[in-house]
Amino acid sequence: VCPGDCGCVGCPVWCVSCGGVVRVALRGLPGVYELLSGVSVIRGCPTDVVRVSGSRERMSPSVAVDLQDEMFWSVCGWENDLRRFLRLGAAHDGPSRVVTLGAAVQTLDRLFDRMLSRADCGAVFGRQIMELFGRALRVARNGPLRSLLRFPCSYCGVRALVQQEGLPNRPWYTSCEQRLGGCGRLFTEQEMEWQTAVRVVIQQ
Ligand SMILES: [Zn+2]
Ligand SMILES: [Zn+2]
Repeated sequence: VCPGDCGCVGCPVWCVSCGGVVRVALRGLPGVYELLSGVSVIRGCPTDVVRVSGSRERMSPSVAVDLQDEMFWSVCGWENDLRRFLRLGAAHDGPSRVVTLGAAVQTLDRLFDRMLSRADCGAVFGRQIMELFGRALRVARNGPLRSLLRFPCSYCGVRALVQQEGLPNRPWYTSCEQRLGGCGRLFTEQEMEWQTAVRVVIQQ
């Protein structure tokens, strides 16, 4: 059974849609890491106060710093684990944490299919990357992170597509929500572009 939200069975570890979502999250980690740096810097600037989604409270910058720590050690840990698994040499530390994290993400992205299809830990890896990215976004951003789209899912025809925002102005993924009567499929941004193109063709 795929560990993602799609509910599909018979996949090796992750299905293509959910794997695509994990990959978008992985590639987005350095960006959201830098967003979190902004959280501590803008402390005390009232117009830029960062709120946890749904609350009006100010957030302690230490939350962002702790989260950056967690992201750094988690991603570098996975990179080292994969390097050991594939008998590659150890990674080298960069001049800064951002650079080291970026290099670790690049390695994991380059060897993404190998990593995600690992029977021993591919499921845990993917879940952890999605969870980290999602949680870091909630901390780094304020305002709504999810919105219901106006048009129906092109697979099941139900109007249950909910878009999850990623980095500013960039969708992360869209899910056809089962709790709204949808089919539970997940779509990456590229797949949504394709769906939108199909809609345009149908309307013409
Ligand atoms: Zn799946
Ligand atoms: Zn659907």
